[in-house]
Amino acid sequence: MATICSLCNKKISIFKMRLKFKDGVVGQSCLSELNLCNFWAFEPGAKEYAESHTIADLKELQTSGKDFTNIQDQYIDDETKKELQKKQEKKQERQEKIEVLKEFKDDGATKFSSYYFDLKKNQILSSGSLTTSWRVIDFSEVLSYQVNRNGHLEQKHHGIARAVTGGILAGGVGAIVGATTGGKNTDYIDHLGLVINLSDGTNFEVKFLKTKTKTNSFTVKTAEGELRSLISIVQSGMNKAQEKAEQEQTKANTIKIESNADPAEEIRKFKKLADEGIISNEEFEAKKKQLLNLQ
Ligand SMILES: [Zn+2]
Repeated sequence: MATICSLCNKKISIFKMRLKFKDGVVGQSCLSELNLCNFWAFEPGAKEYAESHTIADLKELQTSGKDFTNIQDQYIDDETKKELQKKQEKKQERQEKIEVLKEFKDDGATKFSSYYFDLKKNQILSSGSLTTSWRVIDFSEVLSYQVNRNGHLEQKHHGIARAVTGGILAGGVGAIVGATTGGKNTDYIDHLGLVINLSDGTNFEVKFLKTKTKTNSFTVKTAEGELRSLISIVQSGMNKAQEKAEQEQTKANTIKIESNADPAEEIRKFKKLADEGIISNEEFEAKKKQLLNLQ
């Protein structure tokens, strides 16, 4: 015989969870609605709550517009409370990440591995992985970048393989772009990436190639193309950030000059305007008060 849910009077399917109260049984859909369980398990404290309460108590909770999360604290120990809090925080972080990610995608940000480069917001989203958390980096925080290229030569000389290894290449933008297309003295590329250095002393690397690949292969050509487009995006972002900083500096300087103006001289100018009938006496008085800091 099928069990009937004491709360909604509907049949509880044999595949669904149920919880025994003092005077009845409640099925999964009702439990889930009141946050006493999720898809996989009962919420911590749910069993303890059910053992000591009646269906009428549960109905009361339901009609009050609340759910189990509002009273859960009473049925769990401190250890569980801490765990729940952590879970809640993680959930919130995930939710925030989803929203931020959406913003970046809506802007048409360019994605390279787990990084989104947004030239509209002029920001980079490091979307992280399962083990690392996400982070938003403003282009004003980007100090420099360099190509990380490693390759080797497998030319045989008297039967012995000779290895030539390249390291991180530093230098101006031109040198970097040149370096990505150079490296003809290696017949294999082992690693290709762009290291981006931030003003807080940290850096991150966008990797395009992580395993030994023939230098003249399509894979290497594709990786180099991607690297070049990333460099141009990063350079644009840095230029934009630089322009913005300069504009703000100019604005700050202008405000400084304005605030350095002699108030008496300014009042005389406005008095003249009032005398000439260009502004009204009321407007002149208001400006005078403002200039003398009387307002
Ligand atoms: Zn029910």
